[in-house]
Amino acid sequence: MSHRPLQTYQGSCHCGAVSFRIQTDFPELTTCDCSICRRRNALMVKVHESAFELLSGQDALVDYQFHTMTAHHYFCGTCGIYPFHRKRVTPDYYGVRARSGSGFGFGSGSGSGSGLWALAFGFSLLPFTGEGAPKGRMRAAFGL
Ligand SMILES: [Zn+2]
Repeated sequence: MSHRPLQTYQGSCHCGAVSFRIQTDFPELTTCDCSICRRRNALMVKVHESAFELLSGQDALVDYQFHTMTAHHYFCGTCGIYPFHRKRVTPDYYGVRARSGSGFGFGSGSGSGSGLWALAFGFSLLPFTGEGAPKGRMRAAFGL
């Protein structure tokens, strides 16, 4: 269970073309070991599509697909930042980059976007095994 209140957060890509708003209490942050997530190394929060609103950048988003061509891995065509993706196993959910700007209330100078950062700030970390998924989920052995 999250100890954070349900709040609205605003995020963006680096150049600002893509901006969005989500509502979440950050029940957990997710990492994934699939072929694309290993490379982008993003911390993500899972948000239902009803709690996600794209504010700007529909035309700036580039949709990258691979493998089963189900998930939509968006990135900004100008600055290249990954802001969110449409999930494959649960396509009515977005995976949203957790550190998408100061609007997320995390501060901006608190180290790298690693799992260690999430743990240091008291977030639950849930590694997702996307490689060869669906395999289900694997709880992190961090005692959180
Ligand atoms: Zn951009």
